[in-house]
Amino acid sequence: MQRPERVRSLSDEQLAANFADIAPALTNDAALLEADKCLFCHDAPCTIACPTHIDVPAFIKKIASGNLRGSARVILDVNPFGHSCARACPVEVLCEGACVLNDRDEQPIRIALLQRHATDYVLEKKLKLFEPGKRTGKRVAIVGAGPAGLACARDLRRCGHDVTVFEAKTQPGGLNTYGIAEYKLKADVALAEAHDILDLGVELRLGIAIGRDIPFEKLLTDYDAVFVGVGLGSTKQLGIPGEDLPGVVDALTFIEHLKTHPYRDTTVGRQVVVIGAGNTAIDAVTQAKRLGAATATIVYRRGEADMPCYHYEYELAKRDGCGFRFNAAPQRIIANGSGAVAGVEVRTSNGSETIPCDMVIVAIGQGERGLVVPHDDPRVFTGGDCANGGAEIVNAAAEGVAAAKKINDMLERTHG
Ligand SMILES: Cc1cc2nc3c(=O)[nH]c(=O)nc-3n(C[C@H](O)[C@H](O)[C@H](O)COP(=O)(O)OP(=O)(O)OC[C@H]3O[C@@H](n4cnc5c(N)ncnc54)[C@H](O)[C@@H]3O)c2cc1C
Ligand code: SF4
Repeated sequence: MQRPERVRSLSDEQLAANFADIAPALTNDAALLEADKCLFCHDAPCTIACPTHIDVPAFIKKIASGNLRGSARVILDVNPFGHSCARACPVEVLCEGACVLNDRDEQPIRIALLQRHATDYVLEKKLKLFEPGKRTGKRVAIVGAGPAGLACARDLRRCGHDVTVFEAKTQPGGLNTYGIAEYKLKADVALAEAHDILDLGVELRLGIAIGRDIPFEKLLTDYDAVFVGVGLGSTKQLGIPGEDLPGVVDALTFIEHLKTHPYRDTTVGRQVVVIGAGNTAIDAVTQAKRLGAATATIVYRRGEADMPCYHYEYELAKRDGCGFRFNAAPQRIIANGSGAVAGVEVRTSNGSETIPCDMVIVAIGQGERGLVVPHDDPRVFTGGDCANGGAEIVNAAAEGVAAAKKINDMLERTHG
């Protein structure tokens, strides 16, 4: 496939700096100072705002007293994805947004960084905080090794059930491994977190797509219950001429390549246009810029106020020097004489215009998965993006945990 030429090549050091953690870890002293600022509120709004209802004041108090293991246990007990949530959760609209210090015009407690401080400690020290439960002999199949599936797997193992996870890809972790922006969460952290869960005795069968390699019905024959956490499908198509040109790539493919190869192996254009204005579009445009694109511009058919991305993500893209073209509806992608991308023709209120570029990244949302699931079967449970239409890691984790509880209740009820 003909690809845009990389015109400017950044040094390895510059690329590493561009993709370094956007929110670096706290030192121990900084964590203690931050923990001391917490008011340890009763009915803490930060806890209420968290979909997994982590007892935030309790874990912060344990950090303040130097008990990092105990702190991590408070977090991970209710949220098996406490590590990745600490790095990638939209805390501005969840716990930190709810912190009472906002009402005093003070900075909220940096809950995410404190959570990272505690959970990094147990991950780095390889401390095992949880044990499998006493064996029940019941078997549960899980489809998808993303946050939803693995959260469910973890709690089912704690209940003593045998769990087999089927994953289509070659590594576990779902979008944590393959999709979250590199400067928030790196694949090695996502994989360490996934393996920490798998180490509880979960059987993982990689490279198996249920529905393609094994019929879904077979799971219902072989297992006592099935949890489906397959996430969403691939990026939707634009449905405009030129979409198949070399140099047009979908956002998930672009990001996955970046996350699974040395940085310089991911091709980026000199002038990149990203179509869409959700959080994935922001991730694509910022990462294109950080890879060395001279210009990286969001092209969006609606206005600035209509952008579906979080406000702080928009601010990040502006700080990264990304451009924005609002009220510009893509009509077709134009090729040059050699058949490569040369621009995106858009319709604006003033008529038609061409935005020159040599690479187009399509980020207009993900479609649904093709897997057909018998929703009326009481032994089938779903959770995560495939059930909620696409949310955050923390929602997938919460739904996986909730499903594990329902499955356990059902297995206890129906099998004695
Ligand atoms: C680009 C991008 C950036 C994001 N950034 C953030 C962020 O910064 N913070 C945040 O909190 N959330 C973010 N999200 C959302 C978050 O990644 C998802 O909400 C979360 O991963 C959903 O978890 P899940 O387990 O439901 O699905 P997934 O993570 O998608 O996992 C589903 C798994 O199922 C597997 N699978 C699919 N079909 C089959 C099959 N038939 N058989 C076997 N296995 C199958 C897939 O390969 C995949 O591993 C982002 C999403 C995207 C797309
Ligand atoms: S709301 Fe803020 S101050 Fe109160 S417990 Fe939560 S983090 Fe601490």
